[in-house]
Amino acid sequence: MLHHSVFTKLLAIMLAMALGLLALVSFSFFYLLGPGIHRSMDLVLRSYTRDLAATRLPFAAAKELSARAHVGIRYEGPAGTWATAENLPTVESVRRGFVPRNFSVFSRRNHYLVPAPDGGTYLFEWTLGPGMGDAHDTLVAWLLASMAGVIVLAYVVLHRLLRPLRTLNDGVAQLGAGNLEVVLPHPTRDEFGRLTEAFNRMVGRVRAMIDARDRLLLDVSHELRSPLTRLKVALEFLPDGPQRAGMASDVAEMERMIAELLELERLRSGRGLQKTRRDLLPILQEVAAQFQNTPPGVQVRSSAAELPVEVDADKIRVVIRNLLENATKYSLPQSRPIEVVAAQEGGAIVVRVTDDGPGIPDSEAERVFEPFFRVDRSRSKNTGGYGLGLSLCKRVMQAHEGDVVLDLARHPGASFVLTLPKAR
Ligand code: ADP
Repeated sequence: MLHHSVFTKLLAIMLAMALGLLALVSFSFFYLLGPGIHRSMDLVLRSYTRDLAATRLPFAAAKELSARAHVGIRYEGPAGTWATAENLPTVESVRRGFVPRNFSVFSRRNHYLVPAPDGGTYLFEWTLGPGMGDAHDTLVAWLLASMAGVIVLAYVVLHRLLRPLRTLNDGVAQLGAGNLEVVLPHPTRDEFGRLTEAFNRMVGRVRAMIDARDRLLLDVSHELRSPLTRLKVALEFLPDGPQRAGMASDVAEMERMIAELLELERLRSGRGLQKTRRDLLPILQEVAAQFQNTPPGVQVRSSAAELPVEVDADKIRVVIRNLLENATKYSLPQSRPIEVVAAQEGGAIVVRVTDDGPGIPDSEAERVFEPFFRVDRSRSKNTGGYGLGLSLCKRVMQAHEGDVVLDLARHPGASFVLTLPKAR
């Protein structure tokens, strides 16, 4: 999951850059700067040791010098053999290159063999001394501390910088879930700020388009009412017969459609609900009873003895009736009875209406709740209906602070899930 986040990627890039920089500094220090310093020190030391040897350095003076500087001195020659420290190598082993080289730059020993005026040989051993090792430790500690500082700083800065992206992400998710009221804050003037502004404008336009569609439906419905009334009056003057009966049924259907459209609009504006506290179970049983004699029949089950809700019972009856009408309509001759299963889940009352008909493709799961949408127009021709039933169900449920959705996990068949807040 983490490698899918821009935040982690940027943090990783910053870390890699800090590490790269550290490696570059270390490299130039150890391989370019260090050896350069060593070479120039070497020149100085070489001529210094030669000068020292020319003074016929006696043991006492050597001892005194070794106490002052980080140098060990050994003499082997006609005057005998002495050394200022016990662990100094012999002249012979240095000459033959037997002296082990230390790996660390800071504990490295440089050896100089210088002929003494009396024919003997002086061995000088120079080390950088403990001070240099300490400096090295401090340097490493500083580098590590500044790395840690860079990481913390990068985390804080990136976290702040990417905040608009997170807000935008939330906004898009909300829009995807159908909330057209999202307005995102865009405090920055950078690319993210402009993107957020563009997002807000886009949501505004979508909202305006949907409002315009709803207004058009409403206006057309209103305008159709008077010509329809005139048609009904005119019908009364026609002689009885199959033609008049057919026209009367068409007019009645148009009237029903217009009534449903106007009802949709009333529900959308939150008007037209008369809520009372009810038990949902008797309502379900009452509506189901109306379908008992229509195959495949309906079975109602509830896992709770009471389903307390605060609803407009008439509107909820319309919802259940619509769902059961659809389920009956789309059931097959061999179908099992339609199931209505109610339960209390947390603070909600959940009702599932399930049939084993042809079902609805996942891709249309959202769209079936739009006005005038039908999955298969040719199929719906002989099943009647004009695609307003489910959009009315959706509006009624949302007006009750509940919802109706299609359960995508149920195949074959269609399963509609109704939720309502449980009454206290
Ligand atoms: P209609 O009046 O056409 O039934 P609805 O809004 O009630 O309108 O349903 C919209 C569309 O959803 C229907 O045309 C149908 O294609 C599909 N639909 C609804 N319920 C079911 C179901 N139980 N099984 C299969 N398809 C269904």
